[in-house]
Amino acid sequence: CGVFGIFSRDDHDNVALNTYWGLFALQHRGQESAGIAVTDGTVMDIQRGMGLVNEVFRHGVPGMPAHIAIGHVRYSTTGSSLLRNTQPLLVTYSGGHISLSHNGNLTNARELRIELEQQGSVFQTSIDSEVIVNLISRSNKATVEERIMESLSRVKGAYCLTVMTEDKLIGVRDPQGFRPLCIGRLHDGWVLASESCALDTIGAELIRDVEPGEMVVIDDTGLHSLSLAPSDRRKALCVFEYIYFARPDSVIDRQSVHQARFSMGRQLAKESGFKADIVISVPDSGTTAALGFSCESGIPFAEGLLKNRYIGRTFIQPEQKKRDTSVRLKLNAVSSVVKGKSVIMVDDSIVRGTTSGKIVRMLKEAGAVKVHMCVSSPPIGFPCFYGIDTAVRKELIAASKQVEDIRQFIGADSLYYLSLEGLMRAMPALRPDAMCYACFNSDYPCATPSGAETGGAE
Ligand code: 5GP
Ligand code: SF4
Ligand code: MG
Repeated sequence: CGVFGIFSRDDHDNVALNTYWGLFALQHRGQESAGIAVTDGTVMDIQRGMGLVNEVFRHGVPGMPAHIAIGHVRYSTTGSSLLRNTQPLLVTYSGGHISLSHNGNLTNARELRIELEQQGSVFQTSIDSEVIVNLISRSNKATVEERIMESLSRVKGAYCLTVMTEDKLIGVRDPQGFRPLCIGRLHDGWVLASESCALDTIGAELIRDVEPGEMVVIDDTGLHSLSLAPSDRRKALCVFEYIYFARPDSVIDRQSVHQARFSMGRQLAKESGFKADIVISVPDSGTTAALGFSCESGIPFAEGLLKNRYIGRTFIQPEQKKRDTSVRLKLNAVSSVVKGKSVIMVDDSIVRGTTSGKIVRMLKEAGAVKVHMCVSSPPIGFPCFYGIDTAVRKELIAASKQVEDIRQFIGADSLYYLSLEGLMRAMPALRPDAMCYACFNSDYPCATPSGAETGGAE
């Protein structure tokens, strides 16, 4: 998912419209639903719907004059893809109104929800984020900051939040820092966004990232930083943000995503030693690494596969059925580029292996004589419980097959996966021991949901 928030008293900074643009820039983080909530200091208005940002706000954004807004784009990792599961969530409680957007997955939401239901709480959605809202509204603490702190001391897992009250914009990043959240300045106002590309889009300046375990509170007196209750769990920024999920023009925790991906490609060229006539990418997610591969190896990069611009991230649609039919709609081989050539095809990851197999076949049908596949991440053998939909374990091809069997399954002439050490080397601005690599090495940085071993995240 993607989250956004803005606080501005400047009448020229239409907060709802800026949120719309921000969400548009974060569209790659979720395409199932979108929403914007705004406040003028007294009441709140909200608009949510299923679909892409431009579809949901086809008839405009919330029009009420406002000085705070938050937004959300969703891709479902818990709870079904339904209208009632769209965010931001908005509730009225004894302390006033509160609206909340969440990116990440809580790992103890089920237990907390059962406990809250037994105490009489009613839930309107099936998403884990509603547990946080429920805890906040039930808290007896005096201030909203304290209520949020108290609530978050009970939840485990991954969360980046933007929260709006009548007079405050609050951003929170969980103590392990799984997901990104950054702070920007727009004129005299403040912006929070999952990725810095959203700040660029609205002309805001990136100030810094919200630190793991930090809560930033923005109101008429400025930005204040508070710390969540200390955690003994290690920092665990998601490496998959750099491999696949984030946009290459974003900078997360001072590491450029583009540079990380480009270096992964260079590293891949060094490690694989593969030679061929051309290097091609599976667009768009494989392109930056393919350019790095080409740069390192001296093998020319060519556009061997073309992506239909009008189609989204097919993988992100929840059901397998939709994914299967959409590969050919999404990609086509450029016969004049690949015909008679040996080809190195670079992609960011292999999850189920179904897309990759279809693409290899497509290239062969278009006349490629050899297809050597290079993957800019290690084999994904374990499911993610922290907000990326890398499938349940039984669907992960690397959970049950060795590299040679995977090569045969996808029909490639060779197959090479980037090593974990090579991956770490590609991100010099980050500390390797402060990251999560659990989908590659099963070193889960915080407890996985109970009963998840076989089923995985919903
Ligand atoms: P597969 O060959 O495993 O069926 O598909 C691999 C492709 O899925 C890669 O091109 C990768 O970029 C893409 N992909 C799209 N969305 C996701 C996602 O949410 N997680 C992962 N791991 N890969 C995704
Ligand atoms: Fe990211 Fe993988 Fe960790 Fe999930 S398990 S948070 S995808 S590195
Ligand atoms: Mg891809």
